[in-house]
Amino acid sequence: MTQRQLLSRLSPTGLVGAINCPYGWYCSQLRLPMLPSDTSYADAGSAIHKAIAEYYHSIGSSPNRNNIQTVFTTILDRVWASFGLDSNKNLTNRKLACRTNFINFEIHRLQTWKRYRPDMVEAKLETNIQDITFVTVVDAYWEQDETIIDWKSGNMSMLSESEYMQGQVMKIILQNLHKKVSKIMFIGLLNGLRLEMPHIDDSYVFERIARLREFVEANHFPRIRGSHCYWCGNVLRCELNEKGVGLWSEV
Ligand code: SF4
Repeated sequence: MTQRQLLSRLSPTGLVGAINCPYGWYCSQLRLPMLPSDTSYADAGSAIHKAIAEYYHSIGSSPNRNNIQTVFTTILDRVWASFGLDSNKNLTNRKLACRTNFINFEIHRLQTWKRYRPDMVEAKLETNIQDITFVTVVDAYWEQDETIIDWKSGNMSMLSESEYMQGQVMKIILQNLHKKVSKIMFIGLLNGLRLEMPHIDDSYVFERIARLREFVEANHFPRIRGSHCYWCGNVLRCELNEKGVGLWSEV
């Protein structure tokens, strides 16, 4: 893979991964085999996002509390079962908490926002800036309220680098597509937390890309150890490679 190809397409998740550990990011860019991992929590997150998207496509523009509760509960139960998650008690508790917090948030939003239904739902967006294709998925966007919502189905108690990067890349892409964004909200569906991202500058993203470009140009991708190693599918390759042992193919 050439230097140009490595930096041709960037997502917020990829960028955060690259900053957390350039070596891990490089391995994933080369699509090298990874260790299998437990995907049940990721599946639960996908099921909740899918149910929310279906809900917005089904619900009317002026529902009442009862509509919100009934329609969302019915859709979530069906989608959840289709993912085969019913037998996992921990995940079922997660589903119930997410359902309650989503419904409460929606009832509150119904009374306070200009428009109930979003203009974009699970929108896969991309745009080209400075020879880089930025890609992201916007969970929901309201044009009149100039607001993006991102649903978090995992634990979230504060905004981290991951949310800042995600929020700012979504904003950059939407603005490049001539859409206004004045508010970015992250909604913790597990605990009901509603966090609005403070204003940050686009340089937050472009400075990190410049750092990544330096690694690519030097063809040097340092390992940075941290809590992210726990979920890293490259951990075996990483440890063996550090000892000079090649696995599958040398990187
Ligand atoms: S195990 Fe840790 S240091 Fe090694 S590649 Fe993965 S994230 Fe990077």
